[in-house]
Amino acid sequence: MSGVDDQKMKHVIVVGGGLVGALHACYMAKRGYKVDVYEMRPDIRTMEVVRGRSINLALSCRGREALKRVDMEHVITKTGIPMYARRIHDLDGTLRSIPYGRKDQYIMSVDRRHLNEVLLSEAEQFPNVTMYFEHKVVECDFNAGTVTFKKSDDSMIKVQGDLIVGCDGAFSAIRQQMMKKTLLDYEQIFIPHGYMELCMSPTKQDQYAMDINFLHIWARNEYMMIALPNQDKSFTVTLFMPFDIFKTLTTETAVLEFFKSKFPDSIPLLGEKYLTETVTKSKALPMVTVKCSPYHVKDKVVIMGDAAHAMVPFYGQGMNCGFEDCIVFDDLLSKHNDDLVTFTETKLECVALLFCFTNFQANYFYCENINNAEFLMRQSVNSRLFLLRKKVDNFLYWLFPNSWMPLYTMVSFSRTRYHECIANKAWQDKVIQRTVYIGIPTLAVAGYFLYKNTSDMYSPLVEKVQDIVERFRPSWI
Ligand code: FAD
Repeated sequence: MSGVDDQKMKHVIVVGGGLVGALHACYMAKRGYKVDVYEMRPDIRTMEVVRGRSINLALSCRGREALKRVDMEHVITKTGIPMYARRIHDLDGTLRSIPYGRKDQYIMSVDRRHLNEVLLSEAEQFPNVTMYFEHKVVECDFNAGTVTFKKSDDSMIKVQGDLIVGCDGAFSAIRQQMMKKTLLDYEQIFIPHGYMELCMSPTKQDQYAMDINFLHIWARNEYMMIALPNQDKSFTVTLFMPFDIFKTLTTETAVLEFFKSKFPDSIPLLGEKYLTETVTKSKALPMVTVKCSPYHVKDKVVIMGDAAHAMVPFYGQGMNCGFEDCIVFDDLLSKHNDDLVTFTETKLECVALLFCFTNFQANYFYCENINNAEFLMRQSVNSRLFLLRKKVDNFLYWLFPNSWMPLYTMVSFSRTRYHECIANKAWQDKVIQRTVYIGIPTLAVAGYFLYKNTSDMYSPLVEKVQDIVERFRPSWI
């Protein structure tokens, strides 16, 4: 424990015992705060079925780093499944692989429920943490630092703390209270696409139905399907489509015809009966982005994770970014010696602004690039230009590992601030554009004249150079 040992033990109320709330409770407990976590749902560790969002998630560098700081990285990754590349399923059944980065770089498929349960149990190990389930926020008084919860028996309880941390997800009640009582800018966008989860069971021989260490993608422009492997040898398959299309799949025949025309190779893997029954009976779920500013009210309340910046899942960053919030907040507390109570308005403003800035940039990245992110996943894996650019990026990354990192590598395999990732990508685009516009014509003209004047002299040399380049070309280019 650090920082606050010699002061009165500060009391933090964490609202939401989801992924970010449970991790943040560990961080604050480790610092020595008295932490009370209030969660709306019953304790998921005691539930047979947990309804909610995606069954598994892609964990990458930012999330792993955040888990590492509370000694949880190994506990989580030992049950995760590495995914080294995208495995593209073309319409004609051809399979192609596009690596995520270098050979040692991979993202990891982790089970959402397991991750949440382990984090809740870890938080509960701290003597200074108490969990309250079936407590739903109904009101906050930011001046008094109080939160009112409704319990499962409909009774109300009001609690008071030094700091309220809203980790209560995309539809955050804490954020709604902030909107009502303070000047908070807010934007929420539901994209036209919904998602539906399906399960691809193991084969009759109890094996994975597809190659395991890949994130499988069926990219069909407007539609997309992905599959991530699970420990029990199944795959969780997620179908992304405009709601308008989902609405047309009301009969088993319609579903089958649709899958035959768009994802034919997936039918035997999913099973015709399971597929048609599940799609006709299930409801597609919405995806939302949330953008707001600021993320705090004085020194009393701050929001984190999806409550502050919900994003579409195409880049696999929502949880990773929310976990990184915990690191950013923790670093700021260290920098300012946990000086919450005696902070002057200016000092707090400075901490909060820094915090907001980092997160605002994260949010900026996703909201502004929502189309890009979708585009990347659904269309670009089919585009020749994208594949060529990927090869150029990979080659330059291999040549200059410290100065030319492809965007995906920066976002998923480094903790480069999100806004810097954007700036770097913009710079790379400019360099490539200039090379194409200026460099190639210049080289072509120079090459032409050089060749014309010296072809006899240099042709054996040119052949030799071509030979050397071919021999040393890395296999992945
Ligand atoms: P949540 O996980 O939503 O947790 C919020 C908690 O607060 C819940 O437990 C809820 O019950 C509780 N709560 C809500 N309201 C109240 C209230 N009034 N009072 C008390 N408690 C309350 N991210 C990735 O990094 N990688 C991925 O691969 C990825 N895949 C995704 C796939 C899909 C289909 C979707 C939809 C999202 C995906 N995400 C992914 C995003 C990720 O799921 C979220 O970013 C992450 O769950 C955010 O965590 P959170 O704790 O902020 O919010």
